[in-house]
Amino acid sequence: NSPARAFGAVGGEPLFIDRAEGAYLWDLDGNRYIDFIGSWGPMILGHAFPPVVEAIRTAAERSTSYGAPTVGESELAELIIQLVPSIQKVRLVNSGTEAAMSAIRLARGATGRDLIVKFAGNYHGHVDSLLVAAGSAAATLAVPNSPGVTAGTAKDTIVMAYNDADGLRRLFAERGEQIAAVMFEPVCGNMGVVTPTADFIDALHATKRHGSILVCDEVMTGFRLSPGGAQQRLGIEPDVTALGKIVGGGLPVGAYGGRADIMDHVLPAGPVFQAGTLSGNPLATAAGAATLAALRDNPPYERLEALSARLEAGLRGAAERSGLPFTLNRVGSMLTLFFSTEPVTAWAQASRCDTERFGRYFWAMIHRGVYLPCSQYEALFVSAAHTEQDIDETIAAAEEALSEIG
Ligand code: PLP
Repeated sequence: NSPARAFGAVGGEPLFIDRAEGAYLWDLDGNRYIDFIGSWGPMILGHAFPPVVEAIRTAAERSTSYGAPTVGESELAELIIQLVPSIQKVRLVNSGTEAAMSAIRLARGATGRDLIVKFAGNYHGHVDSLLVAAGSAAATLAVPNSPGVTAGTAKDTIVMAYNDADGLRRLFAERGEQIAAVMFEPVCGNMGVVTPTADFIDALHATKRHGSILVCDEVMTGFRLSPGGAQQRLGIEPDVTALGKIVGGGLPVGAYGGRADIMDHVLPAGPVFQAGTLSGNPLATAAGAATLAALRDNPPYERLEALSARLEAGLRGAAERSGLPFTLNRVGSMLTLFFSTEPVTAWAQASRCDTERFGRYFWAMIHRGVYLPCSQYEALFVSAAHTEQDIDETIAAAEEALSEIG
């Protein structure tokens, strides 16, 4: 149901998962794995986290959906507004893709402009207008990278290189008044972990002076890199933020929100259409609210930082001893070990990684009971359920795996 799980990037057959608890997955054959995917981000508190399971159970007993307003929706919305500094008003949807798609429509509706800017290697879900890639440092008119995305749709998307602050400034000097939105990952996870430079963040902020709407895609980073996401951690001030993953506590939820005057363009307050039969679903809002309340009341961020720093140090040591060329990028509990001979700051370098070596590393780790994301171009996620022992076992597995793969 999603190609990210198909093991296409590492070869072989995907494992079928039977159940999970805390930091562990079990496959159908009963093998246990230390899980560093965490459902691709949502399970920051670990699997089957008791308050989340209880919240879902309680909600389900009252009915699984009403199609009418509920207090649960307001509670989740209030938690989001409380935690994410730039969000004054928020709308709940069913996935990160929907959040990104709706944010783009809102930006176009609010500005009356067509063009959007995205960055090569950033992923915002399978929205037609965002499913385009280029890859050069210069602004290019994008070509679709999936059949079914029309050239007409793709032509309104400008693809720039991540961290190319000067390129972004030049683009806005020339065409800033035509651009509805700039969409970006504040810390990129979808080409592996890549961090923004301070200059790039300045250039992103400067785009707002042209009346363009700055849309921060925190689907992956939201509630992970700090209670208020990457924007709080890095001092980024977007107009609109897209959320997903953790906001639903493992159930299908996305959200987009931001400045009240911009959000007031969305129907029924304004004219920009967006709707959903199951948006604000009671099970989903219960799981999301239980997760965000736990993150607010017992913040795990210091522990995540310590565990992740321990993992980083151990992996660096193992990689150095293996003699293999590598680059390791980490921000908080997101980490990627790139099989790269150069620092990775944008897709240009990420695309030159040795992905075949990554595939061998992935399988060598699976055979040692560690489940990593099954592509070089993903972030590994540490959860609050991991223990120091899990981290040390992972480092020991990596030591063996890296010397084995050569
Ligand atoms: N935006 C980012 C940054 C993502 O990482 C993802 C998914 O990985 C999405 C959007 C799409 O979210 P979803 O898979 O929930 O549609």
